[in-house]
Amino acid sequence: MIRYSLQCADGHGFEEWFSNSADFDAQKAAGTLTCPECGGKNVDKGIMAPSVAKASASAPAPACPPQGCGGCAFAGGH
Ligand SMILES: [Zn+2]
Repeated sequence: MIRYSLQCADGHGFEEWFSNSADFDAQKAAGTLTCPECGGKNVDKGIMAPSVAKASASAPAPACPPQGCGGCAFAGGH
């Protein structure tokens, strides 16, 4: 599943889920994509909404103790 930020010709922004990018093209071609606010069918992809999980961004990477761990060759990212 992929979520697209969509925008109609009148500038109404909304989001829809699609199974893939081709699904968006198919629904747009079929005319089933409509703006929930004005019902306009001239809908296009807007700016992709950032949906990146940032929970792990602040997790510190494991580090060797200052005195060294003795067997760390940094081969596996230890
Ligand atoms: Zn609209």
